[in-house]
Amino acid sequence: MFGQLVGAFEMAKHSNLIVAANLSSPEDDSASISNYNLHMAMLDFLHAQYATTSPLHVTLHAGELSAAYLPTNSTANTFHIRAAVETGHAERIGHGLDINTEMDPAGLMAEMAAQHVLVEVCLSSNTQILSISGTNHPLAQYLAAGVPVALATDDQGVSRSSMAGEYERAALDQHLSYRDLKLLARNSLEHAFLPGPSLWSATSPYAPVTACAATATMGIGDPANPECSAYLATSEHATMQWLLERNFLAFEKLQ
Ligand SMILES: [Zn+2]
Repeated sequence: MFGQLVGAFEMAKHSNLIVAANLSSPEDDSASISNYNLHMAMLDFLHAQYATTSPLHVTLHAGELSAAYLPTNSTANTFHIRAAVETGHAERIGHGLDINTEMDPAGLMAEMAAQHVLVEVCLSSNTQILSISGTNHPLAQYLAAGVPVALATDDQGVSRSSMAGEYERAALDQHLSYRDLKLLARNSLEHAFLPGPSLWSATSPYAPVTACAATATMGIGDPANPECSAYLATSEHATMQWLLERNFLAFEKLQ
């Protein structure tokens, strides 16, 4: 595991095609359970070692343990998410389902909100693998706590899921409104590991950078106004975000 992680940090140092490392395997597996803190310590060590030399981001699956999957006498569901955030330096958490059995869940969610740690919510996977859906799912709590959330398929190959299906589930099972879904879509690009600065100067609520805030429509026209265009030319990240906003406008015009 340590060798693989070193390999990832080293590769990211030499290639911008490697953007992030994500540890992902059954969290209830005995190897995962017994080595969890060690894995987090490895990430903590490498995070410090490579702070200035490698741009590798870290995302971690954490908190995907329902009571049915928790090994007997294990306390894994009380600290995995916090350890991933505080020791593993995860910028995004996959699942985060068992937030309510963490120690001080409210404090942890406040910390995630303050540090902009996003939760990748995988509704169809959670239903399929853990039978967790509806009000048993903590999505509403994360949203209420101001934790950034985005939808994810978890594993299209295994689940035969799709992003469209995840949005449908968020609407029908979690009763999210169009505005909620729009927020989640914005969050997904804000927390994508794309190069360059963001289109947004603030995220709660979302407010554009000065260059693209010249008009009420954020410089969104086709093309963007000159000042915004110049800004977008410097950033792949902001360009993708601007395209999403343009798609929102086009979609909303049809309604
Ligand atoms: Zn997963």
